Amino acid sequence: MQFKALEEGIEVNGQTVYAFVDGMGTFKSLGEKYMSEAGIGKIKNGRWIFDMNGWYPQQAWLDGFAAIAREVGDGILYRIGYAIPSNAEFPSWVADMHSAIKAIDVAYHINHRKNGIRLFDETSGTIIEGIGHYGYEQIPGKNLIRSVSNNPYPCVFDRGIISAMAQRYAAAAIVVHDDSKPCRKNGAETCTFLVSW
Ligand SMILES: [Zn+2]
Repeated sequence: MQFKALEEGIEVNGQTVYAFVDGMGTFKSLGEKYMSEAGIGKIKNGRWIFDMNGWYPQQAWLDGFAAIAREVGDGILYRIGYAIPSNAEFPSWVADMHSAIKAIDVAYHINHRKNGIRLFDETSGTIIEGIGHYGYEQIPGKNLIRSVSNNPYPCVFDRGIISAMAQRYAAAAIVVHDDSKPCRKNGAETCTFLVSW
């Protein structure tokens, strides 16, 4: 389901929230307003006071995110998603299309924590569950990857993130939403995306 954390006690790091607000471009001040209303930082003398190195409740972020989505619509959500990879922390081993799409889920877990513990342990390479995933499944014999999102972020935002990562390694890569599968926009648990290049 879009905008509803899967578990309690999940936090997102300030860097990711900043990447999000920054990705709003000309709508940035609107983003700052809704984030502060949701309890993420606060506006003081017209400026958004916010700690890039802090951690914030995921549900508060999702609440602010939902308010922004209602206000600006899908076009902007796609653009915000597309801007995330250029600002957020991604693993260093990303080298081609396959590792780029796989890395989304790792980055997603690096940038969230539960009960104070990051959901990706870099030493062991282990993911701790609690926030859902960005899927990776290679379709044999084709330049095609199926990615199932079962996280609380909105459909079109995820298509933006996946598109940005895909187009780093193939400028003409196309990411489409598989409309024959369920969609979180309609209350389902997952969305399915197809990456081709
Ligand atoms: Zn969808």
